[in-house]
Amino acid sequence: MSHVFKGLGLEYYGHMEYAQEKQVAIAAVVAAAKLCEQVRNNCRAAVIQKQDRSPVTIADFGAQALICQAIAATFCQDSIVGEESAAMLRQPEMAPQLQKVTQQVKNLLPNATTDAVLDWIDRGTGQVSDRYWTLDPIDGTKGFVRGDQYAIALALIEDGAIKLGVMACPALSLHRPPPEADQGVVFVAVQGTGATQISLKTGKTQPIRVAHPKVLENLRVIESVELDHGNPALQRAIAQTVGISAPPLSMDSQAKYGVVASGQAALYMRLRWASEPEYQENIWDHAAGAIVVQEAGGRVTDMDGKPLDFSTGIKLTQNRGIVASNGVLHEAVVEALQKVDK
Ligand code: AMP
Ligand code: MG
Repeated sequence: MSHVFKGLGLEYYGHMEYAQEKQVAIAAVVAAAKLCEQVRNNCRAAVIQKQDRSPVTIADFGAQALICQAIAATFCQDSIVGEESAAMLRQPEMAPQLQKVTQQVKNLLPNATTDAVLDWIDRGTGQVSDRYWTLDPIDGTKGFVRGDQYAIALALIEDGAIKLGVMACPALSLHRPPPEADQGVVFVAVQGTGATQISLKTGKTQPIRVAHPKVLENLRVIESVELDHGNPALQRAIAQTVGISAPPLSMDSQAKYGVVASGQAALYMRLRWASEPEYQENIWDHAAGAIVVQEAGGRVTDMDGKPLDFSTGIKLTQNRGIVASNGVLHEAVVEALQKVDK
């Protein structure tokens, strides 16, 4: 897949920790972003309903196939815990969709066959273990289908801690206001080494930092487009309490973490929703985004201020809700939450 990431500055990633993991992950995520944009621009992604009634498209399956193929080819021992499985595509009545997925994958991996694509997708049905990857091939599928934001999110976890996060946001702009040509960014973070953003168009790589508390323009809060993925009323009340009065931004997917990490918002909250208090977050919805914010100088905890625990399975069973901030605001947010959440 080297043609895919040519020019993305990978020549500089020679000898640091997790260098090979980072290189493979970036190449795979960039290829998946290409596939997703091709599907979105050229053939409009039809929504298929999963058993749990959540949406999936041929691009979700294609992206998972490409990324799992790439990881398995280099790190054959590693488990991959992805959102999708090929069970649905293996059903005879899904043959037309399987053909479409295979064609999309073939555009990037010419040797792909339908059988190989099914196997690559199912390589992503692994278990949480001492060392595993977690993958959301399209986070924010609703945003993807609507023509809004989405993310391809991949992270490496060791002993319950996130070591590497690579997250492509093909529809996100690096700058405000957005120059059209510069749309599409990959966020990359390795534990202890900071976070960067890479332009998908130009390959230009820049370190990123969370919002400085004195830049009031960036003192904004961001939340999900889907109102029932959080508690918007409480989120707004908490934002007011910590001095944020600007109206909230809303965005689909982990792109929200990228917006906090690059300083365009100071706070992202995903608070428990009264009608669904038992909802537990999926590991693949947070791992990549969380390390990008942390390495950009921010903090990510649950709404009780506890670190996210990626060691227990596909759900964050030890955590309630999410708070991601520029760091400076964090204590005040958690304190305000403790007061209301009794
Ligand atoms: P977002 O675009 O930030 O709203 O996040 C999309 C993700 O929300 C999907 O990938 C789902 O896994 C997850 N999700 C689905 N239902 C809920 C819910 N009730 N509360 C929080 N997250 C949810
Ligand atoms: Mg998701």
